[in-house]
Amino acid sequence: MYRTHTCGELRLADAGRTVTLAGWVQRIRKMGGMSFIDVRDRYGITQAVTDDPEMNAEVAKLGREFVIQVIGTVRERESKNPKMDTGDIEIRIEKLNVINPSVTPPFTIEDVSDGGDDLRMKYRYLDLRRNPLKNNLILRHRMAQEVRRYLDAHDFLEIETPFLIRSTPEGARDFVVPSRMNPGEFYALPQSPQQQKQLLMVAGFDRYFQIVKCFRDEDLRADRQPEFTQIDCEMSFVERDDVLDMFEGLMKHMFEVILNEKFEEPFLRMSWNDAMKFYGSDKPDMRFGMLLRDVTDLLKGKGFGVFDSSEYVGGICVPGCAGYSRKQLDELTDWVKRPQVGAKGLIYIKVEEDGNIKSSIDKYFSPEILREVAGRFEADKGDLILMMSGIRAKTLVSLGTLRIEMGNRLNLRDPHKYCPLWVVDFPLLEWDDETQRFYATHHPFTAPSQKDMEKFFSNDKEQEAEVSSDSYDFVLNGTEVGGGSIRIHDARIQEQMFKVLGFSREDADYRFGFLINAFKYGAPPHGGIAFGFDRFCALFGGQDTIRDFIAFPKNNMGRDTMDDAPAKIDDVQMKELYLKSTYEK
Ligand code: ASP
Repeated sequence: MYRTHTCGELRLADAGRTVTLAGWVQRIRKMGGMSFIDVRDRYGITQAVTDDPEMNAEVAKLGREFVIQVIGTVRERESKNPKMDTGDIEIRIEKLNVINPSVTPPFTIEDVSDGGDDLRMKYRYLDLRRNPLKNNLILRHRMAQEVRRYLDAHDFLEIETPFLIRSTPEGARDFVVPSRMNPGEFYALPQSPQQQKQLLMVAGFDRYFQIVKCFRDEDLRADRQPEFTQIDCEMSFVERDDVLDMFEGLMKHMFEVILNEKFEEPFLRMSWNDAMKFYGSDKPDMRFGMLLRDVTDLLKGKGFGVFDSSEYVGGICVPGCAGYSRKQLDELTDWVKRPQVGAKGLIYIKVEEDGNIKSSIDKYFSPEILREVAGRFEADKGDLILMMSGIRAKTLVSLGTLRIEMGNRLNLRDPHKYCPLWVVDFPLLEWDDETQRFYATHHPFTAPSQKDMEKFFSNDKEQEAEVSSDSYDFVLNGTEVGGGSIRIHDARIQEQMFKVLGFSREDADYRFGFLINAFKYGAPPHGGIAFGFDRFCALFGGQDTIRDFIAFPKNNMGRDTMDDAPAKIDDVQMKELYLKSTYEK
């Protein structure tokens, strides 16, 4: 028997027992004639000790991360360590076996390590021995179990869907897999099991879920992974609110069992329009105020050229920042001009402590008008109003980005405060100037709102642009954690959707014929949602990066630095797959 107990298990009540522990050497200390070994496993650390000269010599041969077995007697410690669960006891070593030695690890296996990112990624299996990462994976496991518990209790069936499929249009590039048995043809790895779950609804499995890998070949903007995990769900005979209620239940369950946070009230449901209008974002961070206000009516057409040529003038009111210096305001102006924010400039109104108004536009507007603007923002003494103008949709987004930045600068985004909400009624379509065509805001299987059906069938671009959809996002602290929609279940509407998206009939038939066909055999009304499980775990862990919640993630070049994938395959493999590389360095 390798061990009788784990390294996190023994307590004072075990004193006197003879036990066997197995684990890794965390630390060795020598004090006078005594040697101490901290033995670590997944469950914790236990101190083993000896004062025997021969045993001391054995201990001296050990190194960090050796795998050892300690046989000995549990006894009460003289100097207890209240920080350790096992801190009341120690093991008096009777026998010590080296199960497997270790070379010196490339970085220290401690809570705070001296290893840089790259090194820790390369030796991920060592990094995972560290508590912070280990605890993240434990949290992830617990969350997965709770998801399953809740969904199982609500009659959801966990059904697997294939990874080798025909391409799905979720808006990203597919990863493809060549087929040896079907020369010249390729599978795609699913960007999500969207069509498969809809086909399961046609098959009559009215409640489906799966914790499933999805694959998207995207440029890896900060904190994305080419393969990631979704909690993917679908339900039949439901309307939007049925789906929202069910998954609000899931979220509340998760908050309660994992974080001990109880939400008595229903989650807020905000229209996409309001989210853009008041937060400049379709994923508003509700942990702080600083709402966007539209002041176009007050400031446009009053002889100030910049505003007069703008579709929209608006801003945010930053509390307590009227004291900002010229230099700070200049720095902020440079900041909003960065391409990521995209503003042309920044205009301010300060409501000073004495109530006076000071502004970068006081040459153009009377104090009365500026005071009225300040009133619209409900600005108090000491507040700073920051304004932008331009095309409405773009300016709202720039202001939304500035709002988040000011939230960060003022420390208003507490990672341990949770503000969930649903954003609903997204537009069905998004026009792309470059390709001169519509794209589905969510995906092409999302149903147009019933009230907009006439516009949807109008074959007129302007009317189509106004069609809203039965889609929804679950947003937590400024992050989209989940998204879904009520689906099209009528072959005629699905065909029209492909037409609106600019697919020819043949193209639509070639790519989605099987789905349109399935809808002809009695497809039930259905809808669903998918949650980004990695992100969900990171948020519940109070952290920003999903990478630390994935056992073996890729780096931001999509590489696994541990096994050095992707890599070339040999000529025989290439030949079997009928592949020739045209890539030259
Ligand atoms: N398949 C969608 C996605 O991956 C989610 C859904 O509509 O259920 O975003």
